[in-house]
Amino acid sequence: SKNHLFAAIRAAAPAPDRPLARLADGSVVSYGDAFALSARLAGLLVARGVKPGDRIAVQVDKSWPAFALYLAAVRAGAVYLPLNTAYTLNEVRYFLSDAEPTMFVCRPEIEVEARTLAGELGVPCVETIGADGGGSLMEAAAGFPDAFEDVPRGPDDLGAILYTSGTTGRAKGAMLTHGNLLSNALTLRDYWRFTADDVLIHALPLFHTHGLFVGANVVLLAGASMFFRSKFDAREVIDLMPEATCLMGVPTFYTRLLDQPGLTPEAAGHMRLFISGSAPLLAETHRAFRERTGKAILERYGMTETGMNTSNPYEGERIAGTVGFPLPGISLRVVDPETGRELPEGEIGMIEVKGANVTKGYWRMPEKTASEFHDGFFITGDLGKIDEQGYVHIVGRGKDLVITGGFNVYPKEVEGEIDALPGVLESAVIGVPHPDFGEGVTAVVVPAGNADLSEQAIQKALESRLARFKQPKRVFFVSELPRNTMGKVQKNILRDTYRDIYR
Ligand code: ATP
Ligand code: MG
Repeated sequence: SKNHLFAAIRAAAPAPDRPLARLADGSVVSYGDAFALSARLAGLLVARGVKPGDRIAVQVDKSWPAFALYLAAVRAGAVYLPLNTAYTLNEVRYFLSDAEPTMFVCRPEIEVEARTLAGELGVPCVETIGADGGGSLMEAAAGFPDAFEDVPRGPDDLGAILYTSGTTGRAKGAMLTHGNLLSNALTLRDYWRFTADDVLIHALPLFHTHGLFVGANVVLLAGASMFFRSKFDAREVIDLMPEATCLMGVPTFYTRLLDQPGLTPEAAGHMRLFISGSAPLLAETHRAFRERTGKAILERYGMTETGMNTSNPYEGERIAGTVGFPLPGISLRVVDPETGRELPEGEIGMIEVKGANVTKGYWRMPEKTASEFHDGFFITGDLGKIDEQGYVHIVGRGKDLVITGGFNVYPKEVEGEIDALPGVLESAVIGVPHPDFGEGVTAVVVPAGNADLSEQAIQKALESRLARFKQPKRVFFVSELPRNTMGKVQKNILRDTYRDIYR
């Protein structure tokens, strides 16, 4: 028997001397180099006592060795568990005690504290990888052979545990099998027409589905290559475009590119595909980008627990403000959250998905897992609808829905109206406990530049645009919205900040 995911990566690989990654220092990592380094690292893991199914927790800066460690973990039959570099040691304590890894790979800067923590929690091995890729792990791996016999793993065996972004509460560990990861990457490779000629600009973090599984796995399974960059720099990305074919980004990548005068049709001319996801792309950004470059950004929708679920079409029309169609092999339905019944086209309800991409469940949370499935469908937590052409629209998260005086208010609709007002850069609408209405619609607005906005002026402007129950009872101004590393607005923080305003 074979290693389900890595056997497919091997089968798709071009000749060993072909490039897989071009690094910031100008060096090129070939497929042969990447296989050899991951073999040495896999040899080290086994020597350190990592057994099939053991977790390897990794909280390091993005570097090539950090990526090779992902491949090594897969080959060694282990479960790769990347952690957001923004987490503090105290937060890491929770993840390590939850996941009980055999090895924790951390930044050299926190090695001493990490060893103390590991000792306390019974994590047997600690290794380091620095921002430059150096550190104890690479030193220790140097003595191991360039070949490794991949540990057999079936489609149902775990390949990774990824914690969700924690936008709506404490992050949950989604268990992802070799079958989940491989099926989704193959689907995306084909849907987005990836071939060995593609060159992806990879500037996303590796601790999230987007960079790791959508980006890197698609490249590997197409035998393609990537510009591998530890962070996103809009100027640099524009300079890379003439030698690249595709960019995968979060919406902020695109707004930052639009800030660059260098973003022109000529600069983007060689690129065949711009993909956006992880958070909603404003229709305005889509339009502005198309005007500037002639290219329509392709928006898709996914989540940690499922990988990608929907995508705008490669050839058909990419419609701004929608996330496109369910991907081949994935069923998507919209149900009434109260009755669980499937809703007709055009009606807003809870989005549920089913397919080979969907997680087995949350790590060591059987009850939570059971409550997130409904007749074999995974309950995404996102509200949306399917339009008459079959495009899926996301209207927001179920947890963000505001219920005021018994009426449902979808924050996205109110935000859309506020954002369209002159002098508004962006806004977030939340529900805040209210003695009469249950929740009061509340807007938090970021003015554009030094626009002079007032609460009354905004409320007045909305009077003719929104039904009375949707109009914000209070409007607050801030210089920026709280966002996490993936660019998601953290409404839980806003709800917390304003929780007493109607009391
Ligand atoms: P948590 O589950 O811990 O609260 P999270 O849901 O933000 O965090 P992720 O799995 O990283 O964690 O994000 C998935 C969510 O991101 C989706 O459920 C959806 O709300 C949002 N999302 C992803 N892509 C899009 C998109 N194209 N448009 C709108 N929302 C999107
Ligand atoms: Mg979620």
